[in-house]
Amino acid sequence: MKPSLQRGDRIVLEREHFQNLLDALNKKGYQIIGPTLGEGSIIYGKLSCVSDLPIGWTDEQEGGMYHLKKRGDNALFGYTVGPHSWKNFLFPSVQQLLQAKREGKGFQVNRKREEIPKFAFLGARSCDIYAITIQDKVFIKGKFVDPHYASRRGDTFIVAVNCGKAGGTCFCVSMGTGPRADLGFDIAMTEVLKSDRHYFLVELGTERGAEIFQEIPYKNASEEERATANTVVENTAKHMGRYMNTDHIKDLLYRNYEHPRWNDVAERCLACANCTMVCPTCFCTTVEDTGDVPGGHAERWRKLDSCFNLDHSYIHGGSTRYSIRSRYRQWMIHKIATWIDQFGTTGCVGCGRCITWCPVAIDITEEARAIRKSEQAAE
Ligand code: SF4
Ligand code: SF4
Repeated sequence: MKPSLQRGDRIVLEREHFQNLLDALNKKGYQIIGPTLGEGSIIYGKLSCVSDLPIGWTDEQEGGMYHLKKRGDNALFGYTVGPHSWKNFLFPSVQQLLQAKREGKGFQVNRKREEIPKFAFLGARSCDIYAITIQDKVFIKGKFVDPHYASRRGDTFIVAVNCGKAGGTCFCVSMGTGPRADLGFDIAMTEVLKSDRHYFLVELGTERGAEIFQEIPYKNASEEERATANTVVENTAKHMGRYMNTDHIKDLLYRNYEHPRWNDVAERCLACANCTMVCPTCFCTTVEDTGDVPGGHAERWRKLDSCFNLDHSYIHGGSTRYSIRSRYRQWMIHKIATWIDQFGTTGCVGCGRCITWCPVAIDITEEARAIRKSEQAAE
């Protein structure tokens, strides 16, 4: 009989037993979602076995650039974040809100609830767990609860992976959101690859995380194994691709609504909305009503929208943010300034996706730096 594990314990899972973790999650009824190869990148999808992971693959990321290449080893998690985030599952881009059917002189409204699986997110990075906690604040911790988000979020089981590699556009260290997972996980793992051994140092974050390991072969972590795993994450923290000085950043941006840099970025920005689609915290939506020609059936859909779209700021008579300058400024100031007033944190977790997936390589860290530098120069 195994000694019982507890929250906070640190244990070792050998690579050869990794499939047991997936099996244990499946047995508990979770649908496992995790990284897999697809669409020319590493995206999130359903996993049933270890070989569904992008074994031995890594990514290279820079402003406006992403590509995959082989690593030369068999790492399971040797890459950073791709274009997908967990919002694809918790806050899908298209969601039916209701259907209405004509009955006599009125309508019968049907708010059919979808069947939501119990999710286990495997391989969640620290920045993305912070992004989930930010969306939790918006959708379930405020005055109004979004029932669709709440039912998907439910009791999602989170298997975090501490990053063993920093991406070229990552800046979680600047934002205080990584690379080590420090909240919101059931299990957090650090992958350790040596010439003669491949294992995971596992931290148990919750009682149910500990429970999962009752059926998986493990051993208690030695001091040396803990130290080795720590070194992996510390090394990642030293190699961030980007840096953002967040000192008084809210006041900095509030003082600079009319800074000429907004004109400069507007000349480059295509208003394509890519940055908002890939951002794990952006949540702007629009609502569309559709009806059939005889008028017997109508549907209401919620669709992901973007503050870069002209129509997003449409109110009676026209759009309030007509220029690209005003739309980029709105996005960036909301992300790292007004979001703080609204929700108590920035809306940016430093994942770098908006930099990687911007077709013209606009870089939020560079834009913030340019404004700060010009103020310092003026002083
Ligand atoms: S900043 Fe880049 S990704 Fe965002 S809307 Fe402009 S061009 Fe598109
Ligand atoms: S603003 Fe950019 S770096 Fe920040 S969380 Fe969104 S996508 Fe990631």
